[in-house]
Amino acid sequence: MLSGIQPTSGSFHLGNYLGAVRQWVDLQKENDAFYMVVDLHAITVEQDPATLRQNTRISAAQLLGAGLEPEHCTLFVQSHVPEHAQLGWVMNCLTGFGEASRMTQFKDKSAKQGTAGTSVGLFTYPILQVADILLYQADAVPVGEDQRQHVELTRDLAERFNTRYSPTFTVPKPYILKETAKIQDLQDPAIKMSKSASSTKGLVSLLDEPKASAKKFRSAVTDTGTVVSYDEEGKAGVSNLLRIHSALSGQSIEQLVAHFEGKMYGALKTELADLFSEWVTPFQERTRSFLDDPAELDRVLALGAEKARAVAAETLAQVYDRIGFLPAA
Ligand code: ATP
Ligand code: MG
Repeated sequence: MLSGIQPTSGSFHLGNYLGAVRQWVDLQKENDAFYMVVDLHAITVEQDPATLRQNTRISAAQLLGAGLEPEHCTLFVQSHVPEHAQLGWVMNCLTGFGEASRMTQFKDKSAKQGTAGTSVGLFTYPILQVADILLYQADAVPVGEDQRQHVELTRDLAERFNTRYSPTFTVPKPYILKETAKIQDLQDPAIKMSKSASSTKGLVSLLDEPKASAKKFRSAVTDTGTVVSYDEEGKAGVSNLLRIHSALSGQSIEQLVAHFEGKMYGALKTELADLFSEWVTPFQERTRSFLDDPAELDRVLALGAEKARAVAAETLAQVYDRIGFLPAA
């Protein structure tokens, strides 16, 4: 297993947790799992240096707060393992320009940034992601729906390399749970909840004051109807709230629809706000305790980087050999 999260803002949001991080926690014991804070990806858009450093620590603390255990997985910071950038270059040279141009995340993000604000790094970051995954010979990549296309690209490039040279890379599969793969913005159910959203009104940030998040749930955009039912097209807002409720409470959508029969949207929102507070309060306490001990946090990350590097270096050495680089004497 391999996956990553960007330290692009101090706090993760509920979509990050339900779409990805929760699965990381569930999968860590049964698998050889590598999880990383992807700071190389974060600099595809401008970052303030001090803030980036701080957000990288906060991200790692949240991953531990969410339940990652360094005894059961390898947790590290991407820039601590130089092989990512090195294999990234090789993969760049294997990717077609047209192929990279088809990545919808790039199209969405560059549209937001405007031409002048769009870096070449933003264009090629899916290819760096390919390298991230292939370095660890991952079988599966637990991510949200928005990353499916990048895992597909990874499969294509792994197969291309294996065919052009010789079998080298494991061809990975996306691990995407349908129910939580796409948590929508509470104010605009047409778009995914996102760290880099232009407005934070519909964004449930995990480190916000729980009361502020409760308010966001209570003022979530729904529709003009009154019946709580599941309809992704016609009732996108309500359906999103039902999916979040189901993920946090463990009840099925059918059970929830029956439970809210005869009740208005307000009841769903209030219950959801309470459920979220119950989960997020201990999460915040755990995260804070990891942040209060930066020396221990750095020790965990250093150990993770060492474990990750051992695997990454072996893959890169094989790759360099197969493409015909002269070994350094
Ligand atoms: P950015 O907008 O800066 O790209 P992000 O919110 O998409 O930030 P990432 O760090 O890019 O966060 O993604 C981390 C993980 O969270 C990825 O696996 C991604 O698929 C998942 N994810 C992000 N947003 C959602 C969402 N709204 N619903 C489900 N999963 C999500
Ligand atoms: Mg993203």
